[in-house]
Amino acid sequence: MQDKIKIEAIFVSRNQIMKILMSGKGNPKKSKYIFVTGGVTSSLGKGIIASSLAKLLQARGLSCTIQKFDPYINIDPGTLNPYEHGECYVTNDGAETDLDLGHYERFLNTPTSQSNNITTGRIYHNVITKERRGDYLGKTVQVVPHITDEIKRNILILGETGKFDIVITEIGGCVGDIESLPFIEAARQLKWDLGEKNTLFIHLTLIPYLASAGELKTKPTQHSVKTLSESGIQPDILVCRTEHPLPQEMKRKIGLFCNVTEQDVIEARDAETIYDVPLLMKEERLDSRVLYKLDIYNDTDSNLSTWKKFLEKLKSPKFEITVGLIGKYVELKDSYKSIAESFIHAGVANEIKVNVKWIPSETMDVDHIEELFQGLDGVLVAPGFGERGIEGKINAVKYARENKIPFLGICLGMQCAVIEFGRNVLGLEGAHSFEMNPVTAYPVIDLMESQKDVSTKGGTMRLGAYPCKIEKGTLAHKIYGKSLIQERHRHRYEFNNAYLKQYQEAGMVTSGINPDSHLVEIIELPNHPFFVGVQFHPEYKSTVESPSPLFVQFIKAVYQHAVPFIKNSK
Ligand code: GLN
Repeated sequence: MQDKIKIEAIFVSRNQIMKILMSGKGNPKKSKYIFVTGGVTSSLGKGIIASSLAKLLQARGLSCTIQKFDPYINIDPGTLNPYEHGECYVTNDGAETDLDLGHYERFLNTPTSQSNNITTGRIYHNVITKERRGDYLGKTVQVVPHITDEIKRNILILGETGKFDIVITEIGGCVGDIESLPFIEAARQLKWDLGEKNTLFIHLTLIPYLASAGELKTKPTQHSVKTLSESGIQPDILVCRTEHPLPQEMKRKIGLFCNVTEQDVIEARDAETIYDVPLLMKEERLDSRVLYKLDIYNDTDSNLSTWKKFLEKLKSPKFEITVGLIGKYVELKDSYKSIAESFIHAGVANEIKVNVKWIPSETMDVDHIEELFQGLDGVLVAPGFGERGIEGKINAVKYARENKIPFLGICLGMQCAVIEFGRNVLGLEGAHSFEMNPVTAYPVIDLMESQKDVSTKGGTMRLGAYPCKIEKGTLAHKIYGKSLIQERHRHRYEFNNAYLKQYQEAGMVTSGINPDSHLVEIIELPNHPFFVGVQFHPEYKSTVESPSPLFVQFIKAVYQHAVPFIKNSK
């Protein structure tokens, strides 16, 4: 008997799913599920299409969340070099996730969590843990049903919260890839489990333009849909990425060969900015088609006024400024995705266009620094790990401090500011972070106590949202306008409080402190137009509707600093 209960707890049976749907228990919203797959090529922008659709549904009063499945074996992207997949995005609950989750939050203005990003590695890890625990009672553990059931469980988890009308699941990679097969199969099964009107498949493809023939080509899309149908999935809606408009007769042709009505062939033309995409999708009636197909009656007028205002300001800035972003991974701009987007949000809030000059930190040596700072109105020293380029970052802090150029240091950037101040103001020769130099005489940045026994990588840093108490009368207090904030973290090292008094006496203000652990979270220098370093990552919380106050005030300070130059140049 006990065994029977156990088995039922493990396998997601059709009966259980129907029970969840019918009872409404724990699921007052009775979520419907949308799957977004991609074909022809990667990097078509599934994340932006999913975010745009969710935005449109949200604008009609529906609550949505978006989840991403990544087919790689890493348990999460936390251990990946940013050159592999770009930035690692951190959620409030401390999950290290794919950068697409950043888009989801920036578009929807609602937080995501660990449940919103699942990799093949995590699915296998969960199944193998259960197997070792004996949960499968001697059964042979297989891809079908055990892996697919675990995937289904991870999709349904979000629906079961009862918070969402719609759960959108983006399946990473391309259809036909060996590694995404279990995800596709699980989605196929869920359609069978939940029924027609509760699930929907959107397939994103490319319609390439052959310049030599002067023609758009539909064949790759036909093949991609054929591959998807070999897995038992008929897409309900096709979203076609294209450089040129899709004529109606081409939509008809795609519809005919791919077995969808021509209204369900959606043109997704290359946009000027990602923030245009929701409105372009609205013009194509993507949201209406989705609601119709899911049998959701909704005649609410879309409330997109804030979004439209944002776009208007984005496209008609009153001034332009240039900020230098000094980092180790600048060759791949996706490595700093959230910072780049935060600049856009903060620029719009100030009606300013923020040009970002990406500067590799290694190039910031004393011989070139003057030249590299030419034309910069402010600098941001980026987060990072390891030795490479660290001295360049420290040089940049020194230059910004001495020449009174607005400066924002994030995480490692803040730590560089502490090291620079130690070396050049306090005279602590060779002061360093324990991360870069474990034998320094002055470890002004030290390994956190809680990290000393940590030997494994992945999910072991100080991660996620922590409170920070801000001292009244400081610049940080003016920026945030309150005394207690929550920001997200991703680090192992900290300001070494053994030096706290020395720094404070020399004029560095430690304006933000964690109320529980007493870790220094914000430092600032008075008598400077703007010199702020933060141990946390304000960029993770910046959204279109709620830009990071720190970025907004930094850009304002950069602008104020640049005004005399702007005036002189006109
Ligand atoms: N490497 C530093 C630490 O682990 C900074 C991390 C970061 O910039 N995210 O503390």
